[in-house]
Amino acid sequence: MNSVPIAFPASPAWSRSPTLSPGPSSAGDEGRSPAGGEGEQPRSPGNANGVPPLPRAGEGQGEGRGEGSTPYHATPVAHLLDGWLNEAVSLGASDLHFEPYPAFYRIRVRIDGVLHELARPPLVLREAIAARLKVLARLDIAEKRLPQDGRLQLRAGGPVPRVVDCRLSTLPTLAGEKVVVRLLPDASQVPALDAVGFEPEQLAAVLHALGRPHGMVLITGPTGSGKTVSLYSLLARLDDGSRNLCTVEDPAEIALPGINQVNLNERAGMTFCNVLPALLRQDPDVLLVGEIRDAATAAIAVRAAQTGHLLLSTLHTNDAPAALVRLADLGVPRWQTASTVHLITAQRLVRRLCQCRLPDMRTASAMAQAGVGDDALSDDRPLWRPGGCASCRQTGYRGRCAVHQVVPVSEAMRELMRVNAGAARLAEQARREGVLSLREAGLRKVRAGLTSLDEVLAATAP
Ligand SMILES: [Zn+2]
Repeated sequence: MNSVPIAFPASPAWSRSPTLSPGPSSAGDEGRSPAGGEGEQPRSPGNANGVPPLPRAGEGQGEGRGEGSTPYHATPVAHLLDGWLNEAVSLGASDLHFEPYPAFYRIRVRIDGVLHELARPPLVLREAIAARLKVLARLDIAEKRLPQDGRLQLRAGGPVPRVVDCRLSTLPTLAGEKVVVRLLPDASQVPALDAVGFEPEQLAAVLHALGRPHGMVLITGPTGSGKTVSLYSLLARLDDGSRNLCTVEDPAEIALPGINQVNLNERAGMTFCNVLPALLRQDPDVLLVGEIRDAATAAIAVRAAQTGHLLLSTLHTNDAPAALVRLADLGVPRWQTASTVHLITAQRLVRRLCQCRLPDMRTASAMAQAGVGDDALSDDRPLWRPGGCASCRQTGYRGRCAVHQVVPVSEAMRELMRVNAGAARLAEQARREGVLSLREAGLRKVRAGLTSLDEVLAATAP
């Protein structure tokens, strides 16, 4: 992924009064100073976790980090970290990277899929930063030679205070420990099914498949294409109070009220093969399996979908028709796949244009050169390209939307499966039945002014 310099809002993040706390399993000693040199903070009596309070606006902590009035060395690492984490939340970041290099230290945030530099604290702070983060996630601060992972909770302030669940991982690199904090979405960020970005005919096909009492609905796409959130949108749609909904994930990314969520834990023996039979004894109607990634999972998932359960899951394939072949590669007999899978979607995320968008004056020949034919974009509405303003931090984009290919498995496709047809023939049949490709669905979003041509071309490159 590329790194883009970014202009941040003038108001410092730490004026938004966040607090940090360790993961739910922890209690007690997290307020301890990890590196011994950064200064212990007084505990706030009102803070149940015993976590140091954050500096408020006007306390003089960290204003103008590095360039401005208060130098880094005058601010405790715990306060600096609170500021960076809170700033990441308020920017809507999905990940925060703490990266030591031989000559410098860099903190970057991923926003809408792209990394941006957030700060460059002095390299000398690298161990204190890693140690403090490890304390917050209840990791072993003495272990610096092996990767570790844990969880922590970030209490973000602002107009609507909320708790952000985070996953933290460390990795020993040549220049020291690199730490990545993943900010997990919460239930409020799961969109309703009609806001997921399906085209009208795609939504109709999805609703039809969800109306079936059993069988399988699959979402495909690469890592980071938003499959999990879409899967949860499908699940939320099915949650009308009359069904028993269960998920098995490794691990669950979003906690949803009203849904029985189970985490796999290979080390403790909680494997998919152990958990699923137990779940099936619990009278489920709908099962969500985080990902079908091996033959054992595929076999059990198909069996569950054939015995009166609706099963939702994801697969790593480039497009939807390839998922049928992928299941065969995982050892599921083709006739079984053909009779079990009702619908497959593929998806990609594209960045949404900010309101500062500008007309895209590209000529028809430039479009043709980019591989976009006249038929795809031939109406009189203008296309748009990114502009740049303060609210999108000069990137031209704010937020993302999903682009989908939705393939209902037809009788003709089932027949092709039974005669061992490959992915290309299945894709050809889907086209014949009027299924939009990912690019065609993306170009509709371009025409609607939601995103830019370049975004869709990049996200749907073959
Ligand atoms: Zn803008």
